[in-house]
Amino acid sequence: MSDCIFCKIAQGEIPANKIYEDEKYLAFLDINPVNPGHTLVIPKEHYEYFLDTPDELVCGMSALAKKIGKALVKSGKAEGFTASVNNGRASGQIVFHVHFHVMPRNFSDNLKPWRQLKYKDGEAEEVAKAIKDKLI
Ligand code: AMP
Repeated sequence: MSDCIFCKIAQGEIPANKIYEDEKYLAFLDINPVNPGHTLVIPKEHYEYFLDTPDELVCGMSALAKKIGKALVKSGKAEGFTASVNNGRASGQIVFHVHFHVMPRNFSDNLKPWRQLKYKDGEAEEVAKAIKDKLI
């Protein structure tokens, strides 16, 4: 897509610190890392959302995220990592070309990526049913 920043990176039109590249996928450093080594994994083909992306590409992205995470830990740049996807504005997605974040984590980084609520009586069953009913 002509005005997509990640398409431009994939096509070499704007620079990035590339970690891995093949015919279908690219991994490069996030410009504003959570920790040094924070890497984005994208398919070269443009899809806005994770939910739009064909399963075959999701599998390839996921395998590449795993490969990057392994290398991050082996490099000594991280003690662990968090891999995640934002799908939609409500989740914090700001670049509308599907991507996995592979974020280096360390025992001392004090990052708390999500809160931990408690369910009220009966609420978990109701929520589980609502989701189950929409599985296809
Ligand atoms: P998200 O909130 O999941 O859409 O994340 C988009 C990510 O892309 C953010 O973490 C940005 O820091 C990162 N980003 C935006 N522009 C660039 C760029 N030109 N090069 C590398 N990373 C970028």
